[in-house]
Amino acid sequence: PHILIGTATCGKVSGAMSVLDAINTALDKTNIKATITQVGCFGMCYAEPTMDIVLPGMPRISYGFMTPEKAVSIIEDYIGNGNPRPDLALCTVGEGRIDGVPTLDEMPMLRGQKRIALRNCGHVNPLRISHYIARGGYTGLHRVLTALSPQQVIDEMMASGLRGRGGAGFPTGQKWQYCRDAAGSPKYVICNADEGDPGAFMDRSILEGDPHSVIEGLIIAGYAVGAAEGYVYVRAEYPLAVTTVKHAVLQARENGLLGHDIMGSGFDFDIVIKEGAGAFVCGEETALIASIEGRRGMPRPRPPFPAVSGLWGKPTNINNVKTLAMASYILAGNTEEYAAIGTDRSRGTCVFALAGNINHMGLIEVPMGTPLKEVVFGIGGGVPKGRSLKAVQIGGPSGGCLPAGLSDIGLDYESLVKSGAIMGSGGMIIMDQGNCMVDVARYFLSFVQAESCGKCVPCRSGTRQMLGILNRITAGEGRPEDFPTLENLAVQIKATSLCALGGTSPNPVLTTLKYFREEYEAHILHKR
Ligand code: SF4
Repeated sequence: PHILIGTATCGKVSGAMSVLDAINTALDKTNIKATITQVGCFGMCYAEPTMDIVLPGMPRISYGFMTPEKAVSIIEDYIGNGNPRPDLALCTVGEGRIDGVPTLDEMPMLRGQKRIALRNCGHVNPLRISHYIARGGYTGLHRVLTALSPQQVIDEMMASGLRGRGGAGFPTGQKWQYCRDAAGSPKYVICNADEGDPGAFMDRSILEGDPHSVIEGLIIAGYAVGAAEGYVYVRAEYPLAVTTVKHAVLQARENGLLGHDIMGSGFDFDIVIKEGAGAFVCGEETALIASIEGRRGMPRPRPPFPAVSGLWGKPTNINNVKTLAMASYILAGNTEEYAAIGTDRSRGTCVFALAGNINHMGLIEVPMGTPLKEVVFGIGGGVPKGRSLKAVQIGGPSGGCLPAGLSDIGLDYESLVKSGAIMGSGGMIIMDQGNCMVDVARYFLSFVQAESCGKCVPCRSGTRQMLGILNRITAGEGRPEDFPTLENLAVQIKATSLCALGGTSPNPVLTTLKYFREEYEAHILHKR
């Protein structure tokens, strides 16, 4: 028997470690010999702690909402006596069927998904490189180093259509090309794992559940641009992710996948882990670079772009965690398959962290262009307690609030921008009728206001002024002239802020003014 238990952060905070203790005790007592594998998050965070059991000749069964008592009874009944306990099962995974248990394809949360960046999360022990290799890991790196020139690697990335999943959506192959073509050496590649959006946990889950997919992507990026050194910039508030990625780097080094003459190719490359101190603005590339250099994390004007003058003034390529996890998949010979997914201009898949008022809170990955309503009502299971959907905040604090009426919209870069929101890095917060949209806008604005680095006036002072107005409005002291003042400030801040944090900070206010103006009017006119 093989028991898999989810011990990522979502599992641990839901009690996975006491479930694990109970499983170990029960196995000892009953003298059952089983292999236990601690795995990352399979995406069904709402059902944590989760436990899967694989018996020879049987499909893998996934159980959710585990308690120590339930886990022990499943072990006794299923492993001990052959009763698979369909009453406690979520689904089966892989081939085969068990009466009374839906297959993975029949699970509303999983059937619309296409898991590429998340391909190994929940399947492998993130601390065992052999698990990653057993599922095809590092075949992309092998292919790249033995069969492709750096330019061919870049050409494949361009052909895949992959765009940066950190938020900006810039074509990854093009970005690699700029860095490769830039004069100067040495060159650097950086993995941006400074995820800081409220409600977002995509990058954390990937690093906790499948760090080697990201490490492999970073090595490939290094080969493509001509770098011998890479950094993973990961926030210190993610202690489990920091541990798993450090361990993965050590294991990759021990196995000759980092260091001198990787796979006998003559390519030298190594990785340094840098822990960020929790400033949201350090997700901005130039601020991140300043932080690695030991300076205060503040953005600087661009150009020059990091591809030309980045870390230590040298050409530097920066990619998000999800981008790199997808790159390692694409370059394993999957370029055409990847390019065939999604829409014309937004190829491939996108990862979202579903949070807020949603039944199936968790981590999902869907083809680009999937309708928002499919994500909220199909995969997400809709809004709890029979309430109706009111809005979806997409793209983090700099994104926008889309009303329920726009739920036909496709989740791709172009459609979201047209609606006033942005893809961002994948945060998605669902709100029901009980949420006040002015409060929501005020919350997100207060977040970016607090995280403004203060370097430029429009962001530092403009967001403070907007926040002051929203505070007044929600205190019942709004005035009709607040509308033009808010709109004017928003336009000025967007147009003149130095970096994207300031430039996108008015988005939640602008989209709520556009789609929920009556709520502002109710506050102002009725003094509530
Ligand atoms: Fe700093 Fe805001 Fe200016 Fe960006 S826009 S540099 S966060 S003050």
